[in-house]
Amino acid sequence: MMPELPEVETAVRELRPLIVDRVIRSAWSTVPRQLGSQTIRQLSGKVRGQRILDVTRRGKYILIEVVRGIVLVHLRMTGRLFVAPTEQKPHVHLRAGFVLDDERDTLFFKDPRTLGTLGYYAKSDEIGALSGLGWEPLEAGVTGDMLKKALEKRKMAIKPVLLDQTVWAGIGNIYASEVCWVAQIDPQKAANRLTLAQYDRLCRAVPDVLSRALERGGSSLRDFMSPEGKYGSYQKEFRVYDRESEACERCGATIKRIGQAQRSTYYCPRCQRGK
Ligand SMILES: [Zn+2]
Repeated sequence: MMPELPEVETAVRELRPLIVDRVIRSAWSTVPRQLGSQTIRQLSGKVRGQRILDVTRRGKYILIEVVRGIVLVHLRMTGRLFVAPTEQKPHVHLRAGFVLDDERDTLFFKDPRTLGTLGYYAKSDEIGALSGLGWEPLEAGVTGDMLKKALEKRKMAIKPVLLDQTVWAGIGNIYASEVCWVAQIDPQKAANRLTLAQYDRLCRAVPDVLSRALERGGSSLRDFMSPEGKYGSYQKEFRVYDRESEACERCGATIKRIGQAQRSTYYCPRCQRGK
């Protein structure tokens, strides 16, 4: 599964006490394309000697803030950051490392499928990847009216629109289905044709579902594991996701799975049909 906001935020919160105030001595990488247009020589040269000031998140991006810039990480499908002894190298699939302090520990980037990305940006750089991101889902304050306005030209079905990071940044395929169930919205309804009551419910469901998932350490399906090696438990509370043919806990109807924009959507065809 792809880590979504609750999983990335869990990673950020666990990494923070492990790496803040430590100094990066050097960096290495074995998959050049994960660095984008930078070479590992350039990246290592830029981060060398810089102290880590904070670890934060924007959408699904992890921002490792150093004195003169930011190391921007996207975990994509299978990326994982963790700190371990430099010599131990406990796993295969280690794609990059930031050697810390006296070189005894390394912040490792493990990524079996090598789809994750790493890049260094100076403080003054404009970071294109971050500039188009939408609202932060954990923050309340988005109103039904604001959402109605934002979606007025979007004729696509609401569920794939929830995956668009320019609307809310951080919602992925699991939580989009869950949010539609909580808000009692048909995932196939055109995004610009929801009622104001539905926009209002959606604006409440997004922070509710994602903050609840964060409390549970995110969801672990197959391989998500936090930096401390913990698994999330929100998958036990899924209302519809991955529950095709089971009974809806609200109305008892049978949960359906359909394909939308090449992704699976799970929903209840009875109680998500109203206005
Ligand atoms: Zn139902």
